[in-house]
Amino acid sequence: MEVKQILFTFDYELFLGAKSGSVENGMLTPTKNVVAILNRNNLKGIFFVDCSYLFRLENVIESNENAKNDYQNIKIQLESLIEQGHYIYPHIHPHWIDAKYISSLNEWNLSNNSKYRINSLSIEERQDHFDNAMNALNNILSNTKRHYKIDAYRAGGWCIQPFEIFVPLFDKHNITTDFSVLGEAEKEGNTLSYDFKNISSNATPYRFDSEINIKSKEGKYKEFPISSISIDKNKFVNKVINKILWKIPYGRNKGNGIGAAFKSFKNTPSLYDVSKEMISIELLTINKLNTYNRYLEANNYMQFISHPKMISQHNLDVLSRFLKKANAKYKIESDWRKIII
Ligand SMILES: [Zn+2]
Repeated sequence: MEVKQILFTFDYELFLGAKSGSVENGMLTPTKNVVAILNRNNLKGIFFVDCSYLFRLENVIESNENAKNDYQNIKIQLESLIEQGHYIYPHIHPHWIDAKYISSLNEWNLSNNSKYRINSLSIEERQDHFDNAMNALNNILSNTKRHYKIDAYRAGGWCIQPFEIFVPLFDKHNITTDFSVLGEAEKEGNTLSYDFKNISSNATPYRFDSEINIKSKEGKYKEFPISSISIDKNKFVNKVINKILWKIPYGRNKGNGIGAAFKSFKNTPSLYDVSKEMISIELLTINKLNTYNRYLEANNYMQFISHPKMISQHNLDVLSRFLKKANAKYKIESDWRKIII
């Protein structure tokens, strides 16, 4: 049977704008639902845990019972993910530094996004925040019996450039592998800023040195790029299906927050934005199932990037159908550590 490498990565986080939404609806329940499907199919998930959030949460649990419950529930979920053989790695959104906790709602307001990219911090602040976030992740995992190296990373909002900023942070914490590159995509705005034009949208894992966009055979660091499909977003059927799904609970995620506001500095959308879309459970609707099947047929490597807070029941059902077919045809390797580069 032909082997296909399919990685299921997740950003385990709240909404990052004016309203974070609840931990229950944005993290705990949707993660439990999607992990049930992974487990049924013997697949490993890779969870990038927003540890900037964990760091802030740690500081309010002493005086807030609801926040304390959230922390405990996240801890239980992360411990159980590790026990089940899934991976946990750090994910950092520096604008949590300015987030305000609203105790009456047990939610956060992250509308101040001036520190969205780590570049906006001074060198000392970057080191400080990175250390704090890594400590928060280690704290919450301190009781887990199963141990493994925390040596991989995904940057908040794909903002991993210029990579030289991350070199001292990666080296200090023994991080060697990155999962932030979205091939062919580019954005330039108030929050998001990245340029991955010279990495293809179906790129396979590669090594690199000081420039994340430049492959280097003997490179010190490894990149596991996120995959994208080609899609005509303006096609009538795609628009109609999105509209219908959004109107019914079956097609809608239950996450109840508001995302970070993004304003582009460019007048026209990028080529990526009009013709490509990241491979993602929350974007996997019935009209795209064949495109996903064909992608897998044509490629031996496929990385999903998903956000539990955005996943609907419809997405889960289509994912199950995709996996049923894939399992019948191929042997799926979902453990990134078994992929040698
Ligand atoms: Zn994120």
